[in-house]
Parts: sequence; C-alpha cells; structure tokens
Amino acid sequence: MRSLEQVLKDGIRDVPDYPQPGVVFKDITPLLADHSGFAQVVEALAASGKDDDGTPAVDKVVGIEARGFILAAPVALALGAGFVPVRKQGKLPAATYAESYALEYGEATIEVHQDAFAPGDRVLVIDDVLATGGTVEACLRLIRRCEAEVTATAVLLELSFLPGRDRLAGENVSALVTV
Ligand code: AMP
Repeated sequence: MRSLEQVLKDGIRDVPDYPQPGVVFKDITPLLADHSGFAQVVEALAASGKDDDGTPAVDKVVGIEARGFILAAPVALALGAGFVPVRKQGKLPAATYAESYALEYGEATIEVHQDAFAPGDRVLVIDDVLATGGTVEACLRLIRRCEAEVTATAVLLELSFLPGRDRLAGENVSALVTV
C-alpha cells in the first residue's frame, strides 16, 4: 500500500493561474479518480471524528460546497454519522442561517438549514483546502448558531503561507498535508 503522503502527492495537482492569474489551484480530481487513494484519504479524514480508542464520536459530518461534499459524504458513512451540506447562498430550499465573510475582492455567504442538527450534536467539518480560513470560520459560526458542538475540522490540504491556521486559533483543525 502506498503511504498517505504518496497518495496525496500523486492525487493533488497544481493548476497555475486558475481561477485567476497568480492563484495556484489545488486540483483533487486525480485523487478522486484513484479508488484506493480515495479510500485511504476518506479513512484518514474519518480519524478526526473518532476518539482515542478509534470509536466514532460524531453525530454529523458537514461538507462545505462543493468539493467538501465529495469528501464528507463517504466520511459520514464511514463514521456511522449523518451528512449535512453547507452551501453557497440561495441553494438550500428550507429555512436557513447565513454567515458572510470577506474575500480578497468582495464577500461570500454560506448557509445551513436551521434544522440540520439536533442541539448538542457533535460535528466534524470537512473541506478540501484550508487557505485564508474564512470559509471554515463562517461554517463554524453556522454550526454553533444551530446549538451543535464542533468536535473537529479536517481538510485534505492546508496552505501554510496563508493565515488560515492563525485565524482558527483555538479550534481543533487538522490537515492531511501542509504545503
Ligand atoms: P478560504 O476561505 O480562503 O480558506 O478558502 C477555502 C475555500 O476555497 C475552500 O472551500 C477551497 O475549496 C477553496 N480554495 C481556496 N484556495 C484554493 C486553492 N488554492 N486551490 C483549491 N481550492 C481553493
């Protein structure tokens, strides 16, 4: 079996100048197409939702639109937990809570259904890339507005030259690889 490090190296490719000049986009589609690699990554992300003796310890797994959905749904199944989508503004059909955060140019808003969690639900948050941390920070605010408890946040890849980690100081955040 390949190491997790090798799987991530093989499966995440850099696409320069996408979606705009100067940005290096971390494309995970090769990883998703690699069955054994994808399975290894799901298992590694699911570890953030287990207690020290390996017992699943979350009630819900949140996926952040869009690539977070692809990773979070199999993690939820692996943990015997429910899946909750956090979506961009205007996409969820029932009553939502919304949180906005600053982007380099402008603002973004994400939403969750108000009834997505039972009070006290233990929640694992999953996304593909941690960059400035604004998306995850807003997502944690949404979960707490629903009176659920954030157990951990796990991402595939963390960009260490951006301030995501500082912004989320005090939160339990882990990354499978940091570049
Ligand atoms: P941020 O809020 O700055 O931490 O950005 C995180 C969100 O933007 C995640 O949902 C990522 O999918 C996406 N993202 C940010 N930077 C990149 C990148 N370089 N490559 C791929 N996705 C990115």
